Amino acid sequence: MRQVDIVVIGGGIAGLSAAMRLARRARTVVIEREGALGYHSSGRSATFSHFGIGDAAVRGMTAASRPFFETPPDGFVERPLSFAKPAMFIATEELIGELRALESEMTRYTDTITRVSPAEMLEIVPVLKTGVGGIVEGLLDRSGRKLDSDLLLQACAKAVRAAGGEVVTEAGAIGLRREGERWIVDTAGETYSTATIVDAAGAWADEVAIAAGVRPLGLQPMRRTIIGFDPPEGLDVSAWPFTKTAGDEGFYMLPDAGRLLASPMDVTPTEPTDAQPEDFDIALAAWRVEEATTLEVGRIKAKWAGLRTFTADKVPTAGFAPDAPGFFWLAGQGGYGLQTAPAMALATEALLFGEAWPEELAAYGVRPDQIMPDRLFA
Ligand SMILES: Cc1cc2nc3c(=O)[nH]c(=O)nc-3n(C[C@H](O)[C@H](O)[C@H](O)COP(=O)(O)OP(=O)(O)OC[C@H]3O[C@@H](n4cnc5c(N)ncnc54)[C@H](O)[C@@H]3O)c2cc1C
Repeated sequence: MRQVDIVVIGGGIAGLSAAMRLARRARTVVIEREGALGYHSSGRSATFSHFGIGDAAVRGMTAASRPFFETPPDGFVERPLSFAKPAMFIATEELIGELRALESEMTRYTDTITRVSPAEMLEIVPVLKTGVGGIVEGLLDRSGRKLDSDLLLQACAKAVRAAGGEVVTEAGAIGLRREGERWIVDTAGETYSTATIVDAAGAWADEVAIAAGVRPLGLQPMRRTIIGFDPPEGLDVSAWPFTKTAGDEGFYMLPDAGRLLASPMDVTPTEPTDAQPEDFDIALAAWRVEEATTLEVGRIKAKWAGLRTFTADKVPTAGFAPDAPGFFWLAGQGGYGLQTAPAMALATEALLFGEAWPEELAAYGVRPDQIMPDRLFA
């Protein structure tokens, strides 16, 4: 049996970004069930960071995470982890209220937001259907950033190893039990005895807790679909912003490696699973793009689905389980797990080692009680 200090269950962005900090201070092992890191949600996202999503805690963590993406620590990566790409939020007449609410929320975190008229929107994304019955108002946030999730995952794993930690794939936690003051974690190849478990198992985090006899958080995985298609011949879309309908219903679209990606912003409750795109959602994505633009989607060149896993209040959770010593939750990252990962990792380090709340988080109004699991059991 291997003696360690911390076993992180889950090799997605949550587990790896936290482990990178923890491994500098304690013997840390990340165990991932799949053969590749980021196989589930972390490898299937739109990899964008913007302020048009989540509540104050999520926006605060998004803001607190920005410096990491803009200026990563020395030696962390050899090429940029992100690049500037504006986010544009669009509204039909019925959605103007949503757009205004978004504007007042977002301006608390960035001063880079301007209202854009239909004519200005057309200069930015010439295919939008603007005017009566179409898109009438927009907001442009110049602070948006496109992230490189593969690079981020690999760089975090490298940093874990450089700090003396381990990252093991094909190592699902298949048995969890408490023996005295320790947790025993069985995987196919190794058994670990550890003081602390960090449950960063994404959509499976509740299942891991239940296996350990810990009260689940009540997490709900939601499927979301993305399609990829070619823009019309000769049209350079590379400078187009991440373009998203204001409110919860609609679509978003962004350029990626010469193609356009689009999502119908589907929110379908599912079991934890290897999510696959459904025909209906693929068709809905294409329909919503064609409804709001003059684009014809044509052949769908790529399609995938992934899970966004939410707590009841939709705020990511970090902190020790109130009912189980040494069991640390790092779950419920919803639709913002990449853009909030550096801040969540910072919070994890402080809460796990029982240290002062980081100033970087307090500066954006993020408090421990907003993200600790206790709130979900109150
Ligand atoms: C379509 C889509 C678009 C998105 N767009 C964005 C975006 O633009 N920006 C953004 O910030 N976020 C976005 N998200 C959300 C983001 O992808 C997630 O919040 C984030 O990836 C969650 O990371 P995670 O590490 O918690 O989960 P995961 O990446 O799923 O990692 C959890 C890991 O735990 C492993 N695991 C489970 N059980 C066990 C076990 N028993 N033993 C060992 N390992 C186990 C799994 O195999 C998995 O690899 C999007 C998500 C989707 C689906």
